[in-house]
Amino acid sequence: MTQPIDHLDDERLLLELYGAGSEADNRHLHACPACSARFAELKAQRARLLAAQPAPPDAGRLRAQRAAVWAQIGNGRRRPVWRALQAGALAGAVLAGVLLYRPAQPPSTPPAAHDVAHLSDEQLFEDLATMLARETPLAAEPLMGLFVAGTDNEVQKQ
Ligand SMILES: [Zn+2]
Repeated sequence: MTQPIDHLDDERLLLELYGAGSEADNRHLHACPACSARFAELKAQRARLLAAQPAPPDAGRLRAQRAAVWAQIGNGRRRPVWRALQAGALAGAVLAGVLLYRPAQPPSTPPAAHDVAHLSDEQLFEDLATMLARETPLAAEPLMGLFVAGTDNEVQKQ
């Protein structure tokens, strides 16, 4: 029974290329024609990539690209389709508002049916109505309470 030949995959060949492969892989590479061929291939590819100089950026081309981008943005802003979409979104929001709007009504529950849940609902409604009717924001009341207490104290001191 012969051992299956464990050829080096590209990853291990690349490790060999950078001198970071294992000793066993290195030995196989030098003994195996198939792996040696692939290794030479990778080596040539790497040489080509290193030799290829990145093209220097052409100022004129960059300017043209920038102009094209700006023109595209300008077109997007002026495009009537976009305006129609905006108008449509606004109309949709108004429609949703109309659909969601319900005139405020006091809970119409018969007095006999009052249980804790209904009472709390009514209480909530009452509280909300009171809060909406107030001119002073409810959050300011504790502060005002401090002033009232201060005057009371002063009155008591006198
Ligand atoms: Zn091999």
